[in-house]
Amino acid sequence: MGDELYALDFDGVICDSCGESSLSALKASKIRWPMLFEEVTSELEEWIIDQMHVLRPVVETGYENLLLVRLLLEIRVPYLRQSSVADGLTIEAILEKWSELKPVIMKEWSEKSSDLIDLFGNVRDEWIDKDLSGWIDASRFYPGIADALRFASSRIYIVTTKQSRFADALLRKLAGVTIPSERIYGLGTGPKVEVLKKLQAMPEHQGLKLHFVEDRLITLKNVIKEPELDGWNLYLGRWGYNTEKEREEAESIPRVHLLDLSDFSSKLK
Ligand SMILES: [Mg+2]
Repeated sequence: MGDELYALDFDGVICDSCGESSLSALKASKIRWPMLFEEVTSELEEWIIDQMHVLRPVVETGYENLLLVRLLLEIRVPYLRQSSVADGLTIEAILEKWSELKPVIMKEWSEKSSDLIDLFGNVRDEWIDKDLSGWIDASRFYPGIADALRFASSRIYIVTTKQSRFADALLRKLAGVTIPSERIYGLGTGPKVEVLKKLQAMPEHQGLKLHFVEDRLITLKNVIKEPELDGWNLYLGRWGYNTEKEREEAESIPRVHLLDLSDFSSKLK
């Protein structure tokens, strides 16, 4: 073991799960709004999925993927429009103004987040139950990550909002890596800042150099707000789900180091 400890976010740092979440959202949208999807062609579905990759940085919670799917449909098919915002709306404008658009479309579509959260969760669970290997194949690890994790001499922890068992399954099936369950802090283990406090307090971690790699700038900003966590080196992965604007902002924050994928892989070794 080296004398470095790495706490790693999962989605957007290790694993590109955007294909999976977009496909789950498309499945769920067809259940929620069957009339709207009656005449949607496979070409249009492909276009929607492609745009979802561009829009992924705005997604904070999974159900927002459903809203994006429907909004993209409204952009492309004018006669299906039931919101006031779709006319002339560009992908760039959604990236820019998602927090303003979201409440407007939810009101105009008469949707509640709790219903969409339940539906999205059910659709994903059903996919996993019926076709675990298909579900796993819808995600991929970023290039070089599997080897980096396999040969890492640093102490690795996963800190994610995903359920631990899903992160574990993806690590084993996609990367051939087994990370002991006590090193995976998943959904239900508390906010990331609390997990980092827990990790740094462990007797066996005293004297280790601490590193936290994330793709969401807001999460890193939350760490910076906690003086107790001043000892952590913070990294924003350029390859993850963040925008050019967020990366520019990160450059102006002295605590945050911007990291390229290849540098990340070599750091772990
Ligand atoms: Mg992430």
